[in-house]
Amino acid sequence: MLRPEKKKTLILCCFVLLFVSLVASLPYFYKTFENGFVNQVSSKKRDNRPIKKLIYKDMIQSKEGEKAKKITPEALMPNRNHNYQALSYAYSAKWVNEVLQGKKHITGKKLVFLTFDDGPNNVITPKILDKLKKEKVPATFFTVGKEIGKEKRSILKREIKEGHAIALHSFTHDYHQLYPERKGNKDVIIKEVKANQDALKKQLGDHFHSSVFRYPGGHMSWKDLEESDQLLSEEGIQWIDWNAANGDALDDSQAPKTKDDMITFHKKTLNYFPDRGIRVILMHDAVGKKLTLEALDAIISYYKQEGYIFAVLH
Ligand SMILES: [Zn+2]
Repeated sequence: MLRPEKKKTLILCCFVLLFVSLVASLPYFYKTFENGFVNQVSSKKRDNRPIKKLIYKDMIQSKEGEKAKKITPEALMPNRNHNYQALSYAYSAKWVNEVLQGKKHITGKKLVFLTFDDGPNNVITPKILDKLKKEKVPATFFTVGKEIGKEKRSILKREIKEGHAIALHSFTHDYHQLYPERKGNKDVIIKEVKANQDALKKQLGDHFHSSVFRYPGGHMSWKDLEESDQLLSEEGIQWIDWNAANGDALDDSQAPKTKDDMITFHKKTLNYFPDRGIRVILMHDAVGKKLTLEALDAIISYYKQEGYIFAVLH
C-alpha cells in the first residue's frame, strides 16, 4: 500500500504526463485537419485571397452574368410589361383601379396614364411613339392579339425600349364573341386574354408578362363580368377602364371632327368622371386615328401644366 503522499504525487505525475503528451501531439492533429481541409478546397481550385476579395469576385461574376442577359435600362424586365427604367413610374393596375373606384386615395402628386388601344400597327403607332418621345412622356399600349405578328416585333420592341408599357386587349376584339347578348362569355374572354399574352410572348420573349387587361368596349359597358373578373384575378391579371377620353372611338355622329373639338371633348370628360387625383385617358392608336395624333400635344401639355406625373400600368 502506498502512503497517501506518494499516491497524490503519482496521480499528479500522471496528469502532467497526459498534459505534456497532449500538447506535444497538437501540431500533428492540426496538420491532419489542415490537410483534409486543403484537400477539399484544392479540388475546387483553392483561392488564397481574403474573404472580402472572394465576395468581390462573386459580384464581378454575377455582373458578367447579368451583362450576358443584356441588362440595360431599356431592357425588358422579366415577368413584366415594361423595361427597367420604367420601374420608377410603373403603377399596378389593381391599385389604380381601387383609386378610380374611390376605395383608395392618392397622397402624393397627381398621376396621368396615357393609354392607347387597338394597336399595334406600323402606320399610326410609330407616329404616336415619335410624339411621346418628343414630349418625353410614357404611355400604356393595350394591344389586340390578332394584330400581333412578326411584322410588329420591331414596333413592340420599340415601345418597351422607349419606356412604355404593353397591356392586353383580347385577341379578336369581337364584341359578339366576347359578350353575346351583351353578357360576358367567361371562357372566350379567358381564352382570348391568354392568346393575346402568348402572341406578345412570341414577339418579345417568354419573360414578357402583362398583368393588365382592358375589356374591349370597357368593363363599364357589359353585364355579367364577375366570373371572368375572378378567373383573370386568379391568373394575376387586373382589368382597367378609364376616367378621361378624347372621343376617338365614338361613332361618326358623335366623334370630334377637328383637333379643337377633340381637346374640348377631353376637357368635358374630366367633369363627367370624378377627380380622384389619377387620370387614365382612353385613346386609340388604330389605323386612321389621325386626329388623336394631332390633338395629343395639347392633351399632354394640359397635364404637364397641371403638374401631373406621367406613369404606366403594370
Ligand atoms: Zn378597343
